Amino acid sequence: MKTAVFSPDLEKSVQQMGQRLLACISGQAGATRQVWLDSLISRAIEDKDFRVQTLRFVDVLPTLQSSADLVDHLKEYFDGTELPWPAVTGWGLRHSDAPWAIPIAAPLVRATLRGLSRRFMGGSNINHAMDTIIRLRSKGMQYSLDLLGEAVVSEREADDYQQAYLDLLASLHQSHGNEDSAYRPNVSLKLSSLYSQINPIDPGGSIAVIAARLRPIFTAARDCNACVTLDMEQYDFRHIVMQCFQDVLMEAEFRDWPDAGIAVQAYLRDTPDHLQQLIYWADTRGTPVLVRLVRGAYWDYETVIARQHGWELPVHEHKAQTDAAYESYLSMLFERHRTVTPAVATHNVRSLAVAMALAEQHGLAPDDFEFQMLFGMADDLKQALVELGYRLRVYTPYGETLPGMAYLVRRLLENTSGQTILDTGMAQTKRGEDSLQRPMPHLAVRDRNMDGHFQNLPVYRYTDDSRPHAFQEALGDVHRQLGKDYPLVINNEAASGSGEIRSYNPAQPDELIGSVAAADEALAKQALDAARAAFTNWSQLPVHERATFLRNTATALSRERDHFAAWQVLEAGKHWREADAEVCEAVDFLNYYADQAERLSAETVVELDGEHNSVQYRPRGVGLVIAPWNFPLAILTGMLSATIVCGNTAILKPSSLTPVIAARFMQLLLDAGLPPGVVNFLPGPGDTVAAHLAAHPDIHIIAFTGSREVGTELLGIGAQVTPGQAHIKRVIAEMGGKNAIIIDHDADLDAAIPGVVQSAFGYQGQKCSAASRVIVVGDIHDAVVERLCEATSSLRVGDPQEPGNSIGPVIDAAALERIRSCITRGKQTAHLASMERDDLPGSGHYLSPAVFTDVAPDDPLAQEEIFGPVTAVLRANDFEHALALANNTRYALTGGVYSRQPSHLERARKDFHVGNLYFNRKITGALVSRQPFGGFRLSGIGSKAGGPDYLKQFMDPVCITENTLRRGFAPGVKKGSS
Ligand code: NAD
Repeated sequence: MKTAVFSPDLEKSVQQMGQRLLACISGQAGATRQVWLDSLISRAIEDKDFRVQTLRFVDVLPTLQSSADLVDHLKEYFDGTELPWPAVTGWGLRHSDAPWAIPIAAPLVRATLRGLSRRFMGGSNINHAMDTIIRLRSKGMQYSLDLLGEAVVSEREADDYQQAYLDLLASLHQSHGNEDSAYRPNVSLKLSSLYSQINPIDPGGSIAVIAARLRPIFTAARDCNACVTLDMEQYDFRHIVMQCFQDVLMEAEFRDWPDAGIAVQAYLRDTPDHLQQLIYWADTRGTPVLVRLVRGAYWDYETVIARQHGWELPVHEHKAQTDAAYESYLSMLFERHRTVTPAVATHNVRSLAVAMALAEQHGLAPDDFEFQMLFGMADDLKQALVELGYRLRVYTPYGETLPGMAYLVRRLLENTSGQTILDTGMAQTKRGEDSLQRPMPHLAVRDRNMDGHFQNLPVYRYTDDSRPHAFQEALGDVHRQLGKDYPLVINNEAASGSGEIRSYNPAQPDELIGSVAAADEALAKQALDAARAAFTNWSQLPVHERATFLRNTATALSRERDHFAAWQVLEAGKHWREADAEVCEAVDFLNYYADQAERLSAETVVELDGEHNSVQYRPRGVGLVIAPWNFPLAILTGMLSATIVCGNTAILKPSSLTPVIAARFMQLLLDAGLPPGVVNFLPGPGDTVAAHLAAHPDIHIIAFTGSREVGTELLGIGAQVTPGQAHIKRVIAEMGGKNAIIIDHDADLDAAIPGVVQSAFGYQGQKCSAASRVIVVGDIHDAVVERLCEATSSLRVGDPQEPGNSIGPVIDAAALERIRSCITRGKQTAHLASMERDDLPGSGHYLSPAVFTDVAPDDPLAQEEIFGPVTAVLRANDFEHALALANNTRYALTGGVYSRQPSHLERARKDFHVGNLYFNRKITGALVSRQPFGGFRLSGIGSKAGGPDYLKQFMDPVCITENTLRRGFAPGVKKGSS
C-alpha cells in the first residue's frame, strides 16, 4: 500500500487540523488515570515476558473460583516477579503459605481485574450500560453498544445471542423514547455469533442461516429508529459478513433503510477491492450505509494463523502500511460520502486530522460523518473532538466479566504491544508534533517463520466463492468417472483379478464408485516375483533418483489435488476440509521422505588415525504395505513412499473399502514414471491374500496401519521364521487408540468445547487420533456436558458433498451396525446425554453423534476403541485423578489437555502417556515433520510416521570399519606440533 498522495493544500490542512487537535489536548486537565493501570501497561510494553504472563493471567482469572486457586495461578504465572499492582498484593503473595495471607491477596487481585474491566467495558449488564450512556451523553458523546458474550458453540447459544440483541434494542427503545434523534439507539453486532456452524467453505449455507437470525434484529432496529453496525472479525468470515450484509439490505423490506452499517478493516491487504465493491453496491442499492473504517483488532491472530498454515499474510505486516492504507480509504469514503457515511474509528491523531481535512475539503457538515472511539481509550482526544464540534460515538462493550475476557485481552494486547496495529492513545507515545507525520510504509520483509523447516503443503483457505466453486467442479468431474473398472497392476502391467471388489459411496450406498480387481494367492505370487525381480535395479539406483521420483509424484498429486480430494468425499465420506488436508498430507509424505532418504544416504563417518568407520543404511527387500480405509490416500502414500524411497520394492494392498482411491494413486505412480515391478498393486481380501503374503519368506518388511487385532496378528506372523527364510521380518504396525482430552477446571471452554467436538466427531470419529474420552476436572463437569451436548446437536449431519454438513456417514453398513450396538450397550451402563436425532438422511450410513456421561472408568465405552462418533465423558476430582483416568487404557496414541495452569501442563508433559500430546488445541490433524505421529502400548510399534526416524525402519544399518594402518603408515595422520 502506497502512502495516500494528498495535494499540498490538503496536506497543509491535515497539519492545521492536527495542530488544532493537539492544542485542544494540551489544554485539557488530563483524563483521570489509574496509576496502577498505567504502570502495568508501561511495564508490559517494556517487558515481553511480563506482557505474555499478564495477558494469560487476566484471561484465566475469571474462571478461578477459590482464593487459593487464584493465588496458586498468580504464583505460577509471576514466580519471583515484582508486580506493579497494589503493593499489598505482592506482600500477600510472598506470605501466601500463611493461611491469613490468601484472603487478603485474592480479593485485591479480583478488585484489580474489576478495575481493568471497568476501564474498557461499559458495565456488566444493561443497567450499568445505561448509566454509562447517560454519562457519555452528559459529555456530548454518543454510543454504540456491543454485547459481549461467550463464543457461540451451539445453535441454542446463537438463538440466545439473537434474543439478547432483540431485548437490548427493546430496552434502549424504552429508555430513549422518541427523544432527540442524535441520541437514538445504536448497537454493534457480530455475525459469527448468529450461527454456531458458520463455515467459510459454505458461504451460501452460512449466509442463509445468519440472514434468518439477522432480519428480526434489523426489523426491530428499524421499528425503534435504531442503528445497527456489523462488526468485522476474523478474515475467514469477512466474505460471509460482507455478503450477508449486502444480501439482506437489498431485500425490499430493508432497501430504503439508512441506519445500517458495516466495519471495514484497513489492515487487510485486499481491502481496496472490497471497499470499491461495497461503494459500488451501496450506489446500486440507492440508500446510504455507514462504513466504520477501523484498522483491525485481530492482527496478532491473523498473523499467527496465516503463518501456522503457510498461508499468505492477509494483513499488512507493518503498522505504517496500515496507517497509509487507512488514509487512502478515508479519501475514498469522503469522496463518496453521499453513498457511504464515513465513520472514522481511530485514536490516531494524524488519521483524525486527515478525516477533518477531508471533511472540510468535500464540504461535509458535522452531521454527515462521525468519529468513533473505544470506551476507555484516548479520552483526551474524545473530549477534544467534541469541543471542536464533531460528532463522536463511543464503542461501548458491556457484559459479564468472564465472557468479556476475550475483549479485554484484545484491548490490553493493543495497548501493550509496541508493534500494535492500533495507535491506542493509551501509551502516550504519539501526542506530539511527530504524531502528524505522514506514514511511511516499509518494504515488506520476507516471512521468516518457517525458515529451515520442512514446508508442509498449506491446506486451502476459503475466503471467497472461488475455492468452493473449483471444488464443486472437481466433484462434478469425479461424478462423471464413477463406476469404472480398475485392474491389478503387476510389473506395470494391468492384470485381471480372480474376483472384484465393488466400492460404494457411504453417503449413497447404491452409488457405485468403481470396481477393482481382487487378487488371490496365485496373483499374489506373481506380484511377489515381480517385486523380487525389480529389487536389484531399484535398490542400486542413487538415492537421489528415487527421491526425485517421489518429488515428481508429489508434484503430480498436487496438480490433481482437487480430484483426489473429491474421490475421498465420494468413496470415504470425508468432509471437504478433511479431504483436502489428506491430499496435502500425502504430498507432504512424498516430499518429506524424499528429503529424509537423501539425508540418511550420507554415510556417518568416524575417522581416527589408522581407522575409518562408516555407518550406512541398506534396503531390506520386498515390503508388504497394508493400508487402512480411514486415510486411504495419506497413510497409504506414507507407508508406500517410505518403503520404496529406501530402495525396497513393494506390494501395495489397499483397504477393500477404499480401493478406487488407491487404484487412482497407482495410476499416478505409473504416469510419474514408476519402473516395472517397484510397486505392485494388489487389492484383495486382507485375511487371505495379505495374510498369506505376510507369512511368505520373501517378504522383508510389513508396513501396516489398521486395527489392533490385525496388527498384533501380523506381529505374530512376522516373528515366525518359515523354511527358506533367512531374515527376521520387520513389522511396523500402527494401530488404534482410546484417546482422552482432559478439560481442567480453569480451561477456556470457548476453546475446549469446539476442540473436543472437532477431535471427537471430525470425520465421524473414524480417526485413530479421535477423542473418545473427555475427562472433566472438578465443578465444571455439568457446564461442559451441557455445552458439549448442545454443540454436538448443532452439527449438521448429511452428505459430505454438501460443504455445510460437518458429519457425514460412517464407512459402511457393518460399521454402522457395530457402532449402533456399542451405543445400545452403552445405554445400559451409562447415560446417553446427547440428543438422538430424527433428522438423519434416509439413505446412507448415518448416525447421531453420541456423548455418554456417568461412564465408569472400566466401562467398555471408556476402554474399547469404537471408531465412530461416540465419546465418553468421565469425571475427575482433580488433575491428578484426571491424569490417572487418562492413562488407564491399554492404548497410548494421542491425548490432550485444556488447562491454563502451567504446573498442570508440566505434569502432563511428564506423565500423560501417549505418543502425541496436545495442549489447548484439538488432538487430531498431526502434520508431517511438525508433529511426527504414532503411539506405543497397544497403539503401535514403530517410529513415528512423518518423523526423522521413520525411514530407518525400512533399512538395515551397516557399519564398516577399515584398518588404514599399513606397515606403520596411515594416511592422514596429524603430526604433533612440537
Ligand atoms: P483393519 O485392521 O480392519 O484393516 C487394515 C488393513 O488390513 C486393510 O487393508 C485390511 O484389508 C487388512 N487386513 C485385514 N485383515 C488382515 C489380515 N488378517 N492380514 C493382513 N491384512 C489384513 O483396520 P481398518 O478398519 O482399515 O482401519 C481402522 C483401524 O486402523 C482403527 O483401529 C484405527 O485406529 C487404526 N488406524 C491407526 C492409525 C495409526 O497411525 N495408529 C492410523 C489410521 C488407522
